[in-house]
Amino acid sequence: MLVVGIDRKTGEKALAIKEKYPNLVEVALGFHPHEVKKITDADYTWLEQNLDKALALGEIGLDFYKEYSPREVQFAHLERLLSIARNFRKPVVLHLRGDANFWDLAISFLKPYQDLKMVFHCFTANWDVAKRLLDFESIISIPGVVTYPKADELKEAVKNIPLDRLILETDCPFLSPQPMRGKRNEPSYLVYTAEAVASLKGIPVEDLAEITTENFFKFFEIN
Ligand SMILES: [Zn+2]
Repeated sequence: MLVVGIDRKTGEKALAIKEKYPNLVEVALGFHPHEVKKITDADYTWLEQNLDKALALGEIGLDFYKEYSPREVQFAHLERLLSIARNFRKPVVLHLRGDANFWDLAISFLKPYQDLKMVFHCFTANWDVAKRLLDFESIISIPGVVTYPKADELKEAVKNIPLDRLILETDCPFLSPQPMRGKRNEPSYLVYTAEAVASLKGIPVEDLAEITTENFFKFFEIN
């Protein structure tokens, strides 16, 4: 599993988990758009010094929904982080969230970075958006939201996204799948997300589990 940091503190925690379970855990290190207003040059030094231990650079991205950091600050940090990913030849785990007009802006911002491999984390948008994200060298990560009764657009997108371009995620502690909704999310609940995606794809959940696991290994080039 990939344990993802959102700043230096959580990145260090992720590294400690990896140290404890080196055969089970990989980490992503990065600065979440919510956090970037607090990120300093010293944080960047830490990131560059530890990136060799990480499978990917993330979470990084843009969040215009909550907008906890000003938009210009988010853009500036994302640009700096994408350049680091390029220099260190790391895939990126992207957090992208905004209103209906947001996607045009986000996609055109990412265009100059088409050489990077991208995980579109916590995907909850529609098939039109997914199609455009699939033009990148990318994989789309589906959270527990797919189990929610009202998530019709997302369900439609999941039906259409090619099976070899999908992975699953918890986004824990957030977004617990429907049977556990309201509780703190955790990796064991991923089974509900897997069941929902398998039924949308019309395949047994065991096959879905195998395919998405294989997708993860292939995408991150783990042998
Ligand atoms: Zn996120």
